[in-house]
Amino acid sequence: MEMQDFSFRKSLGQNFIRDASIVDKICRVSEVDKDCFVIEIGPGAGSLTSKLVERAGHVLAYEIDTRLEEYLKDKFKSATNIDFIFDDFMKRDIAQDLKNYSFDKLYVVANLPYYITTPILEKLIAEVDAEKLVLMVQKEVADRFSAKPGTKEYNSLTIFLNVHYRTKLEFVVNRNCFVPKPHVDSAVVSFKKLEKPYEILHRASFFQLVRDSFQFKRKTLRNNLKGYPLEKIEKVLIEYGHDLSVRAENISVEEFIAISNDLEK
Ligand code: SAM
Repeated sequence: MEMQDFSFRKSLGQNFIRDASIVDKICRVSEVDKDCFVIEIGPGAGSLTSKLVERAGHVLAYEIDTRLEEYLKDKFKSATNIDFIFDDFMKRDIAQDLKNYSFDKLYVVANLPYYITTPILEKLIAEVDAEKLVLMVQKEVADRFSAKPGTKEYNSLTIFLNVHYRTKLEFVVNRNCFVPKPHVDSAVVSFKKLEKPYEILHRASFFQLVRDSFQFKRKTLRNNLKGYPLEKIEKVLIEYGHDLSVRAENISVEEFIAISNDLEK
């Protein structure tokens, strides 16, 4: 299959990188080396994949579009450090897929399909204990990752990411660097696992609390957290200078952790 004959599927978020210097830059930022086992989501025509294969110990690439199977297998037929899974990343049991491999460092490097950026990130946080993620996303989505409380970009995903990772916007990529050209610019963001993770007494309850708090963005905590012991929550809020009339968008990661930990006591 020749790439110029390929009919791109918008529904699969198929905007392939056509500028080799961007691929090089992503690899440089990722700092992938031979100790790394790299998961790539959506290899597409394999441009980023090629560089990852050169640098990594092993690459495991998930591609939903089976029209690319023959092309990719042929392109990498002489490489011994890559496996492909032609399936929907969202439907996979990642721990099960990783069972047959041993590695020191787990990295995720990908130019994500934009239509499922958030679900992929949530799955990565929940199921993949990666040392580092280097991801290309839409620029406006990238702005949310390091958003500060009180801004409109700040949401539950911001909190989930910042509980695990140090987030850094590495560089912006102009829409002209892709084929077909998307309507917006992109950005490459890196997430490095925190050396000193936050102490969260009960992770699942913490995530549920954050989700519930953001359920209706315009509502106050008093309204979003109706089933919770509100008096207890208010006590913690007061310590931070808030009360139950505050909205979730004004609560920092540390404050959410303090509330959640207090509820577990
Ligand atoms: N890595 C290539 C590049 O940078 O040129 C392609 C990136 S393109 C933005 C996203 C890729 O993800 C496409 O190849 C698309 O087919 C694939 N994809 C979309 N949804 C997927 C899913 N649920 N699971 C695995 N791959 C998916």
